[in-house]
Amino acid sequence: MDRHEKEKPFIDRDRLYGLIEEKAPSASELNTILNKALKFKGLDQREVASLLRVSNPGQIHQIMEAARTVKEHIYGRRLVFFAPVYTGNVCVNNCLYCAFRSDNKSLKRTVLTMREIEAEVASLLKDGHKRILLICGESERNGTDYMCEAIRTTYAVREGENYVRRINIEIAPLPVEDFSRLKKEKIGTYVCFQETYDPVLYKEYHPAGTPKADYDYRLTVFDRAMQGGIDDIGLGVLFGLADYRFEILALMEHAHHLEAVFGCGPHTISFPRVEPADNAPLTKKIPYPVSDDDFKKIIAIIRISLPYTGIILSTRETEEMRTELFNHGVSQISAGSRTNPGAYSKGGDHDYGSQFSLGDHRSLEEVISSIIDKEYIPSFCTGCYRKGRVGNDFMDLAKPGLIKEFCMPNAVFTFREYLLDFASPETKERGLHLIDKLLSDVKKKSLKTRMTSVLNQIDHGARDLYF
Ligand code: SF4
Repeated sequence: MDRHEKEKPFIDRDRLYGLIEEKAPSASELNTILNKALKFKGLDQREVASLLRVSNPGQIHQIMEAARTVKEHIYGRRLVFFAPVYTGNVCVNNCLYCAFRSDNKSLKRTVLTMREIEAEVASLLKDGHKRILLICGESERNGTDYMCEAIRTTYAVREGENYVRRINIEIAPLPVEDFSRLKKEKIGTYVCFQETYDPVLYKEYHPAGTPKADYDYRLTVFDRAMQGGIDDIGLGVLFGLADYRFEILALMEHAHHLEAVFGCGPHTISFPRVEPADNAPLTKKIPYPVSDDDFKKIIAIIRISLPYTGIILSTRETEEMRTELFNHGVSQISAGSRTNPGAYSKGGDHDYGSQFSLGDHRSLEEVISSIIDKEYIPSFCTGCYRKGRVGNDFMDLAKPGLIKEFCMPNAVFTFREYLLDFASPETKERGLHLIDKLLSDVKKKSLKTRMTSVLNQIDHGARDLYF
């Protein structure tokens, strides 16, 4: 499909706004919905709309507790870690909420050379990262040829025994044939945020005359990605651009559209909120601010509505917010992130501008150390992708809960590697103790035996082992 062939739109704006206008659920209606959620089969759009109308603190607490149960049941106590690499801040678009916008004349711009990308990746590998998100603005300078080379460059970097095991990509929408090229380069998830699903507001925030002004082309990007062979896709909106209740219903509509057409919904949904950004007028007065309490509620609602979809939280959020949300739904986080190109290898003070302000400035080790305190297992696992358990295969495994049999052990293996290769003595001691505790809790004898054997191999120098 080229840029001018439009698919039938699947977001019905008026219908979705109509759904959020109905009345809040009664206590018994809420219980019925939450009881259904606790069967781990998700919720339909009407049920989600009903939950979004809840404002009573006691009822919100019930939703948060249901989300905690769903999160524990499906994901256990593991959190997947990744780091973004900004390969460039040049952008032809002019989005009113972003510092990379073309009208921001004070931003010093660059597109990293392959050598500079190598340096960025090497710096992250030295910290222990293994999963990278390559991300950039939209410009001819970082088109598909550039990205393919950047992917090959990133996979080729070695830092001792460590190397990147999975690359996800967040770049502007492409035609089908370009997605086929990215697929051949072995990308993991293709991520693209709609920013807002409200077509009227979208038009206000994305000035005409730029590629991004085309709402429909962006809305249909995952259809083209899937036609191009990409198995894993990641949705997202930028919360603060429209009524969050509308955005959540639209996200669900989008997920259902993909399931209906391709038999597989999104692998992940990201939850960024608008943050201050230089010369980005919308960030000075956010049109539809989402309070911390509402933000927690919506993550909990998505957790119980789409229980098998990963929820990603970035370092836009503060340490306190991130820590609280691990319990209620978040399954993937970035850590030690920088959003200005070249910042990992050249240090935080170098002068290419960043996309937005960060809320969590801690290093990877500091984040890992704090989650050990909460008895969460950091995971750098890439096993499913490399064993071909992606797309429908992943969902088939995830839905009966079997994913815990793979994800939990694989998380422990990658955590052990991290502790042995990168952690300070103090973090290492506490982490190894946590692994011992977790292993002693494994009920299934055969699983415990297999895990113990792999952990022994890791202790004797083997790396990159996974089920
Ligand atoms: S949000 Fe993306 S497309 Fe828009 S100006 Fe920023 S980098 Fe460019």
